[in-house]
Amino acid sequence: MTVHKSSVLILQCQDWSETSQVVHILAREAGRLRCLAKGSRRGLNPFSGPLERWTCGQAVFSLTDPNRLSTLMELFETERFAGLREKLPAFYGASALTELILAIVPDAERQPELYDLAVESLRRLASADGRECPALTFAAILRVLQRLGYVSATDRCAECGRHLASGPADFSPGHGGPLCAACRPPAAIRAAARTREAVAFLLAAPWDEVRRVRLAPATAAQVREILQARLEELAGRKLASLRYV
Ligand SMILES: [Zn+2]
Repeated sequence: MTVHKSSVLILQCQDWSETSQVVHILAREAGRLRCLAKGSRRGLNPFSGPLERWTCGQAVFSLTDPNRLSTLMELFETERFAGLREKLPAFYGASALTELILAIVPDAERQPELYDLAVESLRRLASADGRECPALTFAAILRVLQRLGYVSATDRCAECGRHLASGPADFSPGHGGPLCAACRPPAAIRAAARTREAVAFLLAAPWDEVRRVRLAPATAAQVREILQARLEELAGRKLASLRYV
């Protein structure tokens, strides 16, 4: 058993016994972990608990073997994204992002950049107004997929690497990007030129520009369709919350 200290983001909490919780965390220095927080529901506890999802803190935890629960020993809360609990569009955006992380981020794999991206995305959603949330949510999901290597460039064929001229393109759920005519599989989604531009923008633009953009309903619907199809390929299911974004 080794003891670690790390910044952590709480992704999910479940009550466990009268006094404790099982919490799913993303630790900056240790990756995604499931931990037992003993006594977190008692009056006085080392977590300022009960613990709640979408809270960041400095934690001390012990790692055992990957098939068993780790133990959360201490948590000092540093940030709580209150806006996510107050506005429905931000709530659904954060829910979709959390579902994504729980579904596809591997267990116990140190990924500090992914942690920073997840925290920054939640911070942006928490302070956004409702109309800003769809683009912020799509950008956050695309960037997490990109960070894990599940999204490819929008200007090249994801299979053969050939450069693709601007305009509509066939997005392949199995590849996470567009394909040229020669490589096109039957399941491809025909993305309009605007959708393709939107995906490129959402992957790369500074957050302040993402926040200002308003996607046309047809473009948002197609970005959502591409993301859901990719998730079905990767995780075997769609993100339940994404349909409300
Ligand atoms: Zn190709």
